[in-house]
Amino acid sequence: MEIIHISAECYPVAKAGGLGDVVGALPKYQVKAGHIAKVVMPMYRTKFLYANDWTVDFKGSSNLGNWFFEYTVIKESSNKLGFDLFLIDINGLLDRQKIYGYEDDAERFTAFQIALVNWMSSWEHQPDVVHCHDHHTGLVPFMMQYCYDYAHLKNIPTVFTIHNAQYQGWMGWDKSRYIPRWDLWKRGMLEWADQINPLASAVKCAGKVTTVSWSYMDELRVNSNGMEKLFEFEKGKCSGILNGIDNEVWNPATDKYLSDHFDVETVTEGKQKNKEGLCLRFGLDPEKPLFVFIGRLVGEKAADILPDAIKTAIHHTQGEAGFLVLGSGDTQVEWAFQQMVEPYTGIFNTVIGYDETLSHQMYAGADFLLMPSRVEPCGLNQMYAMRYGTVPIVRSTGGLQDTVVDMGNPDGFGIRFNNADIFDVDYSIGRALSVYADKAHMKKMRKYMMQIDHSWESTVDQYTRLYESLQ
Ligand code: ADP
Repeated sequence: MEIIHISAECYPVAKAGGLGDVVGALPKYQVKAGHIAKVVMPMYRTKFLYANDWTVDFKGSSNLGNWFFEYTVIKESSNKLGFDLFLIDINGLLDRQKIYGYEDDAERFTAFQIALVNWMSSWEHQPDVVHCHDHHTGLVPFMMQYCYDYAHLKNIPTVFTIHNAQYQGWMGWDKSRYIPRWDLWKRGMLEWADQINPLASAVKCAGKVTTVSWSYMDELRVNSNGMEKLFEFEKGKCSGILNGIDNEVWNPATDKYLSDHFDVETVTEGKQKNKEGLCLRFGLDPEKPLFVFIGRLVGEKAADILPDAIKTAIHHTQGEAGFLVLGSGDTQVEWAFQQMVEPYTGIFNTVIGYDETLSHQMYAGADFLLMPSRVEPCGLNQMYAMRYGTVPIVRSTGGLQDTVVDMGNPDGFGIRFNNADIFDVDYSIGRALSVYADKAHMKKMRKYMMQIDHSWESTVDQYTRLYESLQ
């Protein structure tokens, strides 16, 4: 099959979170399974762009309302990622360093989608499926079906995957003029709660809708930032497909970011060496259990409760554990963590920012990974942690619930709790300390977790069956 993925992120070109990881891996494994998979994304000015060779594939023009724009599609020349990668450039809108966070994000991503559909309409052949990811690409199914100029794309099946339903891309109706001539009778297919809502539009217009875990799909019907009724109504075409992880990138035996590699047999010594490196760098004690948090410092991840939860745990454990936090997001949370560095020197440290290398080293060197998330569509961190023999401590929600089994169960290997609050996090850290003291149990859990199969191969099969159901 020929599959066209449309996304705002793709690792290693541009990544802000799990979406980038998934779009960087799924097409690669689809190609390995014998499909033709291509990724189309905006041409941000990232390191990857300058470090690789490109050829111009297409030049075109279109309109964003009254604004006429020209766009260029370039293709990566050497198939470096294992699939065809296309970037769309629109000067003045997409030529920026960051992926998101600009005032004109609505214009940027709408123009990107218009350019994409415009380019696709020039193709001599039609792909078997167009697979859109998250709200930044949520207007594509609508445009393919209801824009007069693109009517010939109408019959190409579309799939929409929701990696995060908290962000929906809301726009006022004044922006409806951006969308190329469309059938005004279909206004309802753009709308949710009296706004243009690209996420809702994609749920209505795409042939199939998926989320990245089964539990998250269920949760969306009761909690989805205002879209609950729509998910209930559309449940017939919605399903959950759990993300895989890229075992080539995330492999403690070969990881290019680690200086001390290890595998299932050498996990205890290997992790200790990585821990020593980390602790030396951050002034922590490698003889004590090390707890880490890696991620966006936002409410969804319950990062707001972590500073106080960690302080409480430090008091309860009387400094017998170390904590290291990597992340960025809400300035208040960043500030709260920074304020803890001095009073808790030797016990707590933090790096505020995004650091891919350090994240790998933390998965490898930590004993426990904290994930108190309020919302977690799939969550990749806990799967990376398991692959690196690090015990995940997670709240029972979304994909965390689907991938972590509490150690209280036979064959359990992680720690689960119910509430995103200080008490539950502190209590779980207490449970972690007691299992840490039992070396044989820790070793058994580590070995078990490292052998769990989270590979993309089975996920690819599930997507293939989904695409086939639309043909
Ligand atoms: P989300 O997409 O909601 O942020 P996921 O668990 O799906 O969460 O994916 C998070 C990905 O982003 C993981 O690969 C994680 O290691 C990475 N990540 C998050 N924050 C940082 C950071 N500050 N530095 C390095 N990697 C990070």
